[in-house]
Amino acid sequence: MLNFTYEQFPSRVVFGAGSFDRLAEEVERLGLKRAIVLSTPGQRRLADEAARRLGVATAGIHAEAVMHVPVETARAARETARRLAADCAVAIGGGSTIGLAKAIALDTGLPIIAVPTTYSGSEMTPIWGLTDGGVKRTGRDRKVLPRAVLYDPALTAGLPAKIAGPSGMNALAHCVEALYAQDANPITSLMAAEGIRALARALPTVVAQPLDLEGSGEALYGAWLAGCALGMVAMGLHHKLCHTLGGSFHLPHAEVHAVILPHAAAYNRSAAPAAMRVIADALGASDAAQGLYDLANKLGAPMSLRDIGMPQDGIERAAQLATENPYYNPRPVEYAGIRRLLEDAWHGRRPA
Ligand code: NAD
Repeated sequence: MLNFTYEQFPSRVVFGAGSFDRLAEEVERLGLKRAIVLSTPGQRRLADEAARRLGVATAGIHAEAVMHVPVETARAARETARRLAADCAVAIGGGSTIGLAKAIALDTGLPIIAVPTTYSGSEMTPIWGLTDGGVKRTGRDRKVLPRAVLYDPALTAGLPAKIAGPSGMNALAHCVEALYAQDANPITSLMAAEGIRALARALPTVVAQPLDLEGSGEALYGAWLAGCALGMVAMGLHHKLCHTLGGSFHLPHAEVHAVILPHAAAYNRSAAPAAMRVIADALGASDAAQGLYDLANKLGAPMSLRDIGMPQDGIERAAQLATENPYYNPRPVEYAGIRRLLEDAWHGRRPA
């Protein structure tokens, strides 16, 4: 019998090639006049492009975003926003840049306009993250949810394959876990299934032909759906494990997701048969875990924890950390099973 709670977040999405050109219009629509433009150092030129489009609504550029939002980086960005008397933050980039905007908003309430250039999905969620002394804390706060999001496939077209593949697997992970979430509801499940279909269709194209605008648009559409699902329901084993591995062994975010996802699906296989059927169907595979593994392989994403720098003798500690605090997952999270999962992931074995 159906039994659910559904809560929708207010957010405005402008989707399509050329939507980046509507940046000034969107800022003005919100009644804002002085934007601090955020990016990583590597995407500074894109930040300049954003500033050019904003014209007089540019308060300044702060191209200092780094992965996992260290508290020092957040403090410096907040200080710059204050000094510039910014009344909003325009975040152009991946999850790291959007995360920096969220860190400012968490403290100051500054509205965010996001222009995503990866498939992380952070732009659709009220989830923030901050890293202090190597430990990452995350939380939810409506204040950090971007007020407007401009999805322009022209910005993800050209995403290097080694970023696009893992980033796409990161988006797939949101959809997979949304389908077996404790608080899943019919709308997020529809979004998640459609997200998997779009990503599975588009990602092989964007990796093989990064400039294909059609493929890029479809992947971005899948990433949007994935971000919506991530924002609305609670994630399980896969996200918790990636969080632990990323934080404890300094592994790159999207790449950890790419490696772990098939193994997390295999772990949950028998405990969430209905979700697994939907995932497998959406992938066009006979088994969800194997379908995810084959897709990651096709995308040229890293396939093992060994490949992304995890030491083999870290497996035991990771298994302990991952089973310390109980949380909901379709199959109970227990040490022996998680250790086996991590061993398979370390070697990059195809799920049985
Ligand atoms: P990222 O933002 O760190 O980007 C990775 C690299 O790719 C950066 O150097 C960036 O400059 C570059 N890059 C981004 N877009 C590019 C493009 N179009 N072309 C060329 N280079 C480009 O990586 P990410 O995977 O998008 O984000 C990871 C971070 O986001 C992690 O800290 C993760 O925890 C967080 N995250 C948060 C949420 C949330 O809801 N709060 C969701 C997903 C991820």
